[in-house]
Parts: sequence; structure tokens; C-alpha cells
Amino acid sequence: MSSSHAHDESAEPQKGPKVLAVSPKNPNVRTIQVVRPENADTTFLAATATGLGITIRHFGKNLLLPRKSVEALGQGGAAAHVRFKNDIETIQYPEEKVQYPERYRGLHRLMLRDDGAVRCVACMCCPTVCPAHCITIVPEESSDPSIEKRPAVFEIDELRCVVCGLCVEACPCDAIRMDTAEHAKPVEERWEAVENKASLMGRGIRSTATQGGEGPTWRDKK
Ligand code: SF4
Ligand code: SF4
Repeated sequence: MSSSHAHDESAEPQKGPKVLAVSPKNPNVRTIQVVRPENADTTFLAATATGLGITIRHFGKNLLLPRKSVEALGQGGAAAHVRFKNDIETIQYPEEKVQYPERYRGLHRLMLRDDGAVRCVACMCCPTVCPAHCITIVPEESSDPSIEKRPAVFEIDELRCVVCGLCVEACPCDAIRMDTAEHAKPVEERWEAVENKASLMGRGIRSTATQGGEGPTWRDKK
């Protein structure tokens, strides 16, 4: 008895395209009937009218229905889930601002030692792991005999940064963090988006880090 289902009239009707024949050697090899669209459908008039109707409906809804208040929008992590009554999710920035979620990755900052020196030891882990190749470090010998190297130049091109946080994860001594809750400022020239060592060390939050980490509260700003 043949294992072919070709032209089997008693077979269950299948969903999708009509199967005309199935290979007796491999049931995945099938002959499918191609159904060409009717002439009326090939004009796309009906689909165009439907799409236009949806666009007009959204336009009217967004124009006439009230907008949700910015207070309702600014509830931290809940903001992303808030839907406006009229579906418009924009705010009147910069007059209105959204409160960022607690774990939002802001601009980078370089951590400091107790004496205010940069904590980075120029190990080159972060520029190595950075997928955007936006970290430039030029190492130099440290004046502290207990420290081998430090960065003479430490630059991050924030326009190229994809905010992945890998540099923070890769750093062996908690010397770089992304917890400032600041986003990159608008710039007119590319060079203006390059953060240097001084700006990274002085980003409003001057804090020291503890070697070996600080447990689950390491994100707390001091
Ligand atoms: S966040 Fe990612 S892309 Fe940005 S500097 Fe760090 S490793 Fe590079
Ligand atoms: S991984 Fe840390 S210590 Fe190493 S170069 Fe980057 S910031 Fe400096």
C-alpha cells in the first residue's frame, strides 16, 4: 500500500493553501495550489480605504480626547505602562519631564579614591568589551607606588555609546558607573559629545568605591 496522500479524496480538509499532492518519499514536499487574487483585490482600493479610515479615527481621537496629566505620567517605572486616553504619549518637554525609573542607566561617571584620585587603573577591560568602541584610554604610570597605572586620557564618545552597560560590568574595581540618571545633552558638533576624564570624574556625584563591592546597595549614591 502506498504511503502517498496524493489526491486522497477522503483526507481531512487542510487549513491554508490547497495541497494538490504530497511526495510519497517526504511528506514535507508538497504541491500547493497558488490562488491568484481577484482583479477587484489587486487594485488595493478596499485596503487603502480601510487604512485611511483607521488613520482618520486615530486623528480624531487624539485631537478631541483629553491628554493624561504629566503627574500621572511621572510615576517612575509605571510611566512606561501609562496609556493616554487619546493614545498620544508625548509630553511637553522640557517644561514637563518624566521621572526616570530607578534602574535607568544615565551618563557614565568615574569613581574616585579616598584621596580624590581617579579609581581607574587603566586595565583596558572596558574599551575591550565596549561593542561601540567608544572608550579611549591612554594609560600612564601612576605616581602612587602601590598602583601600577592610571588613565592619562579617559574619553567616552556618548554619541557612539549604545548604553549597554558592559563597561560597568567589565570593570574589576568599580571604577566606572552608569547611575547618574542624566541623559546625554544635545550637541551641535560631534566633539561636544565626547566626555573626558575631568567631566567623568566631576559629574555632580563625587563618590568613592569600595574594593570588592558593597553588596546589594552598591548603587546607592554617597
Ligand atoms: S555603555 Fe556599552 S557602549 Fe557605552 S561605553 Fe559602556 S560598553 Fe561602550
Ligand atoms: S575597566 Fe575599570 S579600571 Fe579598567 S580601564 Fe575601564 S574603568 Fe578603568
